[in-house]
Amino acid sequence: ATQPYDDDNIFAKILRGEIPSTRVYEDEWAYAFEDIAPQAAVHTLVIPKGKYVSWDDFSQRASDAEIAGFVRAVGKVARDKGLVEPGYRLLANLGRHGGQEVPHLHVHVFGGEPLGRMIA
Ligand code: 5GP
Repeated sequence: ATQPYDDDNIFAKILRGEIPSTRVYEDEWAYAFEDIAPQAAVHTLVIPKGKYVSWDDFSQRASDAEIAGFVRAVGKVARDKGLVEPGYRLLANLGRHGGQEVPHLHVHVFGGEPLGRMIA
């Protein structure tokens, strides 16, 4: 079972503008901002605007419009950063084994350099 959504998690505060972030992209469905501790030359986080704890939560409860909007936003962020031709990596950690630290779904966008096999 998914834990209840915590309105006080860091990314909820970022969405509400209570904690500053470096905005990369925003639309009706998604917000993208630079990771505070980048693990690659490009390390951007994309989050849905809705209150979803994880990929599991999102994939079960989100509407088709929210899912489509979020997926398109991730693609746009990578495209706008010029990552498509050289290539990039997407990652979503989930739960204990995945090492998810912030309980609001986020997709990591890594790129800007050869990434090897590093995982975040
Ligand atoms: P996770 O481990 O949950 O997949 O990823 C959490 C990510 O959020 C980490 O890469 C971490 O550096 C980033 N992060 C944590 N707190 C903040 C913050 O306050 N601002 C920003 N921009 N990124 C954060």
